[in-house]
Amino acid sequence: MVTPPDPTQVEAFRQARDRVLARIGDACRRVGRDAGDVTLVAVSKTVEADRLRAAVAAGLTLLGENRVQEGAAKASEVPGARWHLIGPLQSNKARRALETFEAIQSVDSVEIAERLDRLAREIRGAGPDARYPILLQVNIDADPSKAGLLPDDVAAAAERIADLGALEVRGLMTIGRFVDEPEAARPTFRALRELAEAVRAGATGPGAVIGPELSMGMTDDFEVAVEEGATIVRVGRALFGERPHHHGPGDHDHAH
Ligand SMILES: *Cc1c(COP(=O)(O)O)cnc(C)c1O
Repeated sequence: MVTPPDPTQVEAFRQARDRVLARIGDACRRVGRDAGDVTLVAVSKTVEADRLRAAVAAGLTLLGENRVQEGAAKASEVPGARWHLIGPLQSNKARRALETFEAIQSVDSVEIAERLDRLAREIRGAGPDARYPILLQVNIDADPSKAGLLPDDVAAAAERIADLGALEVRGLMTIGRFVDEPEAARPTFRALRELAEAVRAGATGPGAVIGPELSMGMTDDFEVAVEEGATIVRVGRALFGERPHHHGPGDHDHAH
């Protein structure tokens, strides 16, 4: 049985959402952007389904999960939510991912894209006229401990993936380095924007087709990311509170 969300919890989420949206709005104003151009993905990893139902009732309807299994398990228990995958994707989970998520932000190789292309046709009826949306994850600082395409490889990968036919590269995503000060993340975000601009202009390779999205910025640095052009911010702790400490490897959890 799905119990209705607790009104107190809904109200708390409404306030948390309003606060984050106000901060996004302020960051937009500082640089002359339209706040309507920034999408908030509420990162719900480790948050249980009953709290997520309250979050959805409070308007947090776009949820981000970094594990396929966890997202798939919660999706059936949280009606009205839409889901993005923001974490590492192994090929044996690609089918489940496509069944669960309306977009995958963390595509980091042509190989996984080829698999997604085949499965998206089969599962979602995707094709040249109805492409399944993805973002390319970029390891902008070439950090050996991080997933993602290296910046120099993005244009060629985007072109190959566009040619597959059933995927749409909506833009780029990056996970910033862990920094003590939000300001320290700025060069990373700026570099992602500049890379996207260069790729679109054909400056780094064969005029690859990538869309306008830039997914960057988390609880500690989303305002800086918005100032640098983020169109998607992925915010967890500012909405849901601190997570339990060890969520396991590979989750890019910066909340130490
Ligand atoms: C956990 C996570 C976030 C959100 O982090 P917070 O610091 O809680 O805002 C964003 N992006 C990715 C890829 C994550 O794994």
